[in-house]
Amino acid sequence: MAQASSRPVPVPSPRTQPFWDGCARDELLLQRCKSCHIYWHPPSPLCPNCLSNDYEWTPASGRGTVYTFSVVHHAFGHAWEPLVPYVLAVIELAEGPRMLSNVVDVPPDAVRIGMDVAVIFQPVSETISLPLFRPVAS
Ligand SMILES: [Zn+2]
Repeated sequence: MAQASSRPVPVPSPRTQPFWDGCARDELLLQRCKSCHIYWHPPSPLCPNCLSNDYEWTPASGRGTVYTFSVVHHAFGHAWEPLVPYVLAVIELAEGPRMLSNVVDVPPDAVRIGMDVAVIFQPVSETISLPLFRPVAS
């Protein structure tokens, strides 16, 4: 498991608390519409497809592919200095939604669009774990 870091820690809102509670249990949760059955992310009170507010938090597979990415070489702030260079990526989850995250445990110049990845959880505080992604065999 990756080590904790000095980067700023997300502050859950009532809307995002179930997502972060899942991450703290090493479980990636997505909202899923009970009417049209699509998944979505980031958290929202309404289904983006049919506008139903009848949804449930559902465990996702944690698998996906790199949709696009950038290698960050200049730290955004002091907290990120130990991390550069790092990969900021949009991950297309197997369930459909796209999630902004980092690709870790691989040299940045080896990351490719379409690369198969799986989620890992990096604890950054007593209650928050970040969902990050690492390459896996296809
Ligand atoms: Zn829906």
